[in-house]
Amino acid sequence: MNQYNDIWYKVLHYLSDRIKKADFFVWFQGTDLVDVKDGVYVIGVPSIFAKDWFQKRYIDVLKEAFLAIGEDVKGFEFDIDDSLSTEDGDGVDLRDMFGDKNGSSSGLPAKRKKKKKNESIMNASITEYQTVQNYGSKTLNPKYTLDSFVVGSNNRLAHAAATAVADRPGLAYNPLFIYGDVGLGKTHLLQASGNGVMSNFPNSTVVYITAEKFTNEIVEAIQKNNVKAFRNKYRKVDCIIIDDIQFLADKSRTQEEFFHTFNELYHENKQIIISSDKPPKELEGLEDRLVSRFEMGMIVDVSFPDFETCLAILIEKTRELDVDIPSNVLEFIALNVQSSIRELEGVLVQVAAFAKLEGQVPQMETVTAILKKLGKMELVTSKEELNSSGKEAIKRHTSGGDVVDLVAKYYNLSKYDLTGDRRSRDIMVPRQVGMYILRKDFNYSYEKIGSEFGGRNHTTAMHACSKIKKMLKKDQNLQNEINDIKQAIGL
Ligand code: ADP
Ligand code: MG
Repeated sequence: MNQYNDIWYKVLHYLSDRIKKADFFVWFQGTDLVDVKDGVYVIGVPSIFAKDWFQKRYIDVLKEAFLAIGEDVKGFEFDIDDSLSTEDGDGVDLRDMFGDKNGSSSGLPAKRKKKKKNESIMNASITEYQTVQNYGSKTLNPKYTLDSFVVGSNNRLAHAAATAVADRPGLAYNPLFIYGDVGLGKTHLLQASGNGVMSNFPNSTVVYITAEKFTNEIVEAIQKNNVKAFRNKYRKVDCIIIDDIQFLADKSRTQEEFFHTFNELYHENKQIIISSDKPPKELEGLEDRLVSRFEMGMIVDVSFPDFETCLAILIEKTRELDVDIPSNVLEFIALNVQSSIRELEGVLVQVAAFAKLEGQVPQMETVTAILKKLGKMELVTSKEELNSSGKEAIKRHTSGGDVVDLVAKYYNLSKYDLTGDRRSRDIMVPRQVGMYILRKDFNYSYEKIGSEFGGRNHTTAMHACSKIKKMLKKDQNLQNEINDIKQAIGL
């Protein structure tokens, strides 16, 4: 707080009626007026994202506000000070000024320790910073965008979270943790989110790196006695994206470095985005303190898409590849590739290559030959056929509600016991078993599982699945019960 407080409060009051409430609370929380010299008003903001945002969107309205309250304003400067957004920092607390109504929903970082001025970017020499910025921009592949990512029920939440992060880095969800099996779009989403940050906040530095490369760099830095340079490099970025974090398992030195980098970036309002093949709790060989850091933000999963989404992805990819493939051929591919989107795309690329080579539109026979070469012998030609083949058919014909019914019946409970609120152990465990089966055998997203069980939150479903998984390691009876239920379902 300083001598310019009164001016800044008046400006904020003026702006609070002119800027959309949600935006106002997100971007003006923790700001202050630092200095006034020769008509240039220096506004303190908590991050480079805020600086970019102000410069791009708010210059005109700020000018209008200062003029309206009688200040002779000529221009603005924005000064980044990461301590501003902390509870005991110098910046304004809009929740005090305007009531707490929006405060809690503004997505502002929780209470953090007061830190000294942001040393990394502010004190880094310009060339040093630009080196990191150049390096950063090269690590992203521009082909992965949020727009080219096809949204279905298997990835809706993950896509929404990645978009929110691109719009409000450091503020929306931090860290954002996306997990799922291989080839289901994690890297695409991570990179797309990073590309989104870059285009919304062109002055920020976004670095994408795989956990494997991160590890190699650390090993090399240690060998060359260069750890300090390594640290500096990563602590200067505004948004760090680490892909396939499971690679850090059992690598304690790398985990140690990552832990410190994480903390530093987090406290400076930088965005952290992580992917993994498992949810944090199930990552073995990872220190608890890292796992609990990952759990501070938003955890979302991606799973395999349904037929319609697969088809939509294929259509999107044909557009990118600029090839013409008949819709019945695309459907045929979608019907017969049920493992990963990467494989789906791989088949399409081969089909497209063939079409280009032969100079003709690919037919079913071409695709059949390609699929057989990949070891797919029993090909289906229609959705009905797919629906009537073995276990897949049973899975397709069994709804989430059916599973809830069967689990309830098995434990002599009612469906309402499982979907309701009661929390006694004899109901909790069956409820969790039901969730576990939907996840493991039906590949449901946690969001969808939550809604099958009375509209619960996806984190509840996630917790249930990891709890059952843990119990199964010790409890053979539970395994038998689950096997019985699966048999009753027909699996
Ligand atoms: P992962 O990192 O989970 O192993 P990737 O992100 O590498 O998977 O995805 C594999 C391929 O599938 C990529 O080419 C990606 O563009 C594509 N892909 C995955 N999901 C989607 C989607 N929903 N929309 C469009 N393309 C997708
Ligand atoms: Mg990947």
